[in-house]
Amino acid sequence: MPACPRCDRPISSSAVRCPHCNLELAAHGHAGMVLHRATDSTPLCATCAYEADNSCTFPKRPTAMTCTLYENVQAPPEPAREEIYRIPWQRKYSFQIALLIIIVLSLLAVSL
Ligand code: SF4
Ligand SMILES: [Zn+2]
Repeated sequence: MPACPRCDRPISSSAVRCPHCNLELAAHGHAGMVLHRATDSTPLCATCAYEADNSCTFPKRPTAMTCTLYENVQAPPEPAREEIYRIPWQRKYSFQIALLIIIVLSLLAVSL
């Protein structure tokens, strides 16, 4: 069970606000909208990819302590689509392998 970043008490993973200290946990009242929060006195912008490439237009920049768009510039890159959906060759060619086995067995049966 997750804990509140302010009071460290257990909270529901779908909580929009902490029921103990009333800290806002999700942006704009939507549980699915992640509100990133600085863990110390350093603003999120200092490690944000949008600050690094100078593409952020949020008015809170460069001192945002909370942000919905924060992307850690040091986060590992997202895996490529081909890596996510890689199919093992045995599965990819299972039909061809099965067909080849049937043909070989048929040829063996004919030759006997
Ligand atoms: S997206 Fe948010 S954290 Fe990133 S630079 Fe803009 S305001 Fe800062
Ligand atoms: Zn709390």
